[in-house]
Amino acid sequence: MSSPPNLERVLVVEDELSMRTILADCLERRGYRVLTSADGADGLTRALHEKPDLVLLDLMLPKLDGFAVCRELRRLGFRGRILILTARGRVEDRVQGLDAGADDYLPKPFSRDELLARVRALLRRNDAASQTPPRILLGDVTVDLAARRALRGDEELPLSAREFAMLALLIERAGQVVTREDFLDRVWGVTAFPTTRTVDKHIVSLRQKIEIDPAQPRWIHTVHGTGYRLELPPARAEAESAQATPDPIRMLQDLHANGEGLHPQQAKSSLREVREDRKRWRTK
Ligand code: CA
Repeated sequence: MSSPPNLERVLVVEDELSMRTILADCLERRGYRVLTSADGADGLTRALHEKPDLVLLDLMLPKLDGFAVCRELRRLGFRGRILILTARGRVEDRVQGLDAGADDYLPKPFSRDELLARVRALLRRNDAASQTPPRILLGDVTVDLAARRALRGDEELPLSAREFAMLALLIERAGQVVTREDFLDRVWGVTAFPTTRTVDKHIVSLRQKIEIDPAQPRWIHTVHGTGYRLELPPARAEAESAQATPDPIRMLQDLHANGEGLHPQQAKSSLREVREDRKRWRTK
């Protein structure tokens, strides 16, 4: 049985030749177009140039580790999905990976079916995301994430690239605290060394541009001693949180319900693996 050709592109960043070959083979058989990279620095460069729909990212990599690759990709505005490959049981890796901007993780060793199920689910989220215009309304201000600009009515607000990146990060984590360190990591990057006061100064300037009354901010709230939090208008906040971090069990069930490829028996064994894995995670 041959799969129909698929135009979606997946970049596999993995230094172990055998694992890289297995992953590439498995995806190519399903019709994905596969690119590969054997170290973190090359993976980062390829992802930025080739803009794949999905990056399968190992964590332990020469030159630049998976966490750093992930953070840099997000900081530089990479919009594809990132699936991190972690060693089974390394809970802190998963948490750190998701914090660094990954969309999901896959514990090693994994079954081929589970890998393919997660790849399909993530690529489906890509489709959904690209169909919704990434425009956010903050009162009379429209933030156009794709064009990287903000408008009040027809008038473009003079946001600097840094201010826009800070606003985009606040929107991405709407309703949650973004710490000063998060801003430094994502907006200034690992090679710059500004102080946390720099973050505060940029927030003051950002508020002056987007808030009606910067002294009584409606959107960007200060969380004392920690950082800042963006409050979206209520309806929007609910819609956003509904599509937050995926629940792996839910994802497999959805796939099964949609009749997408997983044989009931395979789905059952994948589910069992996920549940066992979770149990182990919880008892740590
Ligand atoms: Ca490795």
